[in-house]
Amino acid sequence: MQPNFEKPEWVPPNAGMEYATIIRPGVELVPADHVAAAQQTPQRRNLSIQEYLQGIRQGDRTILGRAISLVESNSLRHLESAQELLTLILPFTGHSFRIGISGAPGAGKSTFIESLGCYLTQLGHKVAVLAVDPSSSISKGSVLGDKTRMEKLVQEPNCFIRPSPSGGALGGVARKTRETVLLCEAAGYEIILIETVGVGQSEIQVRSMVDFFLLLNIPGAGDELQGIKKGIMEIADAVVINKADGDNIPKAKLAQAEYTQALQYIQPATMGWKSSVHLCSSLLNQGISEIWQEILKFQSLVQQNGFFEKRRKEQLREWIHQLIQEYLYNLFYQNSEILQAIPGIKQDVFENRISPTNAARKLIQLLQK
Ligand code: GDP
Repeated sequence: MQPNFEKPEWVPPNAGMEYATIIRPGVELVPADHVAAAQQTPQRRNLSIQEYLQGIRQGDRTILGRAISLVESNSLRHLESAQELLTLILPFTGHSFRIGISGAPGAGKSTFIESLGCYLTQLGHKVAVLAVDPSSSISKGSVLGDKTRMEKLVQEPNCFIRPSPSGGALGGVARKTRETVLLCEAAGYEIILIETVGVGQSEIQVRSMVDFFLLLNIPGAGDELQGIKKGIMEIADAVVINKADGDNIPKAKLAQAEYTQALQYIQPATMGWKSSVHLCSSLLNQGISEIWQEILKFQSLVQQNGFFEKRRKEQLREWIHQLIQEYLYNLFYQNSEILQAIPGIKQDVFENRISPTNAARKLIQLLQK
């Protein structure tokens, strides 16, 4: 049907098409029985805290997913329920081995996690895969969630995959992931893989929530070390050169030698452990079991020498410290008196009437009133 052009009655009689209204053919009415059927579709019912707890303990992945959404919610109402739930699950947490995996975009993180994840589920382990994606809070886009990922792993009944929480600063994203780890542990996941993109701060955040940190690299033209920040090497318990297959093998071996040498001059990330460099091909599932053996060796060492417990305690201390910082920051920037005073005090600093230190003190005094 062609659209009709009709003018509203208040339009001057000799006006042109600028006042035209297009009348388009309408849509057919939904038959009454369809409306009735739609009304009968059950709405997603709110779960009680006890139902969440039970579902999680029974390993129900749908309820686990909903519990994670509750923890990720920014609403104050949800915060109370989430904290109530977390308190109840605490006795069932802490028993997993937490592994951080970082690498530049394209290094093969999702392929590697798929390969390692499938290997582990075949060994009978329950594996959860989480992500900390700084790009989702900076650019609103997501580096880790924008492609079809881990197609085989996602079908494994013993695997649970959850993309990065979005929104808020990196600190907030990390807080949510820490709580998600606890929920997954209470649901019986014994190995938690936390993926992050190698772009700086996010690796440090992930390091502070895992027991083992793995850096994934790819063979380059022999000068790859120039581009690697020393800081990242310092926090890695293992470096893996991925894509060591086909024509890449000589380059991969060269990279392995170079990273091995570089690691000799770097303080180990974990006391008593010597970080080493491994080759693998995630695409061909080669080298994966050797890397897992290395992780098991690490696990048994740190559990024997007490470093495992020590690091977990340090991480809890750091977590509390971060929460206090976050809380105080919000208290400061949500205080209306402070918000009003900031522009004037900034101007005083710009025009040298007050020092920056005194400006900050003056503002903080408003919080202490
Ligand atoms: P991510 O961005 O780090 O998650 O990287 P992806 O896992 O998406 O991999 C990026 C590209 O590298 C994809 O085209 C993969 O197929 C490819 N890739 C990943 N691992 C390997 C590998 O071991 N060998 C080869 N040849 N290619 C790989």
